[in-house]
Amino acid sequence: MSETLFDKILKREVPAKVAYEDEAVLAFHDIAPQAPIHILVIPKKKWARFADFRAADPEAIGHYMISIAKAAEHVGLEAGGYRVVFNNGKDAQQTVDYIHAHILGGRGLRWPPG
Ligand code: AMP
Repeated sequence: MSETLFDKILKREVPAKVAYEDEAVLAFHDIAPQAPIHILVIPKKKWARFADFRAADPEAIGHYMISIAKAAEHVGLEAGGYRVVFNNGKDAQQTVDYIHAHILGGRGLRWPPG
């Protein structure tokens, strides 16, 4: 797997505003926020996209999901709610080949998305 921007953020080679970190994930603020709170949550164990989950340890995937919930709570979104988005592949406009959950919140969000 080729190195991406998010590999470099995880290694602290590229600066990012860290919002939450635990043994499973690093969460940082999106550089171009689409909501008052917009963070990206990447697993420390790298997968590029959803298809990689087929060969992954289900427990590791579970830890990733739990840590997404912890990150959302940590930034104060538990009470009001939030949206979790994974852009997966070209048609969904995934621009970084390192799986990342967008957590968006802090205002009422419209539905459906574009
Ligand atoms: P996606 O389009 O789903 O691949 O999302 C990539 C996200 O990374 C976009 O929302 C970008 O705004 C965000 N992004 C790009 N560069 C950086 C950076 N250096 N620090 C934080 N977020 C970034």
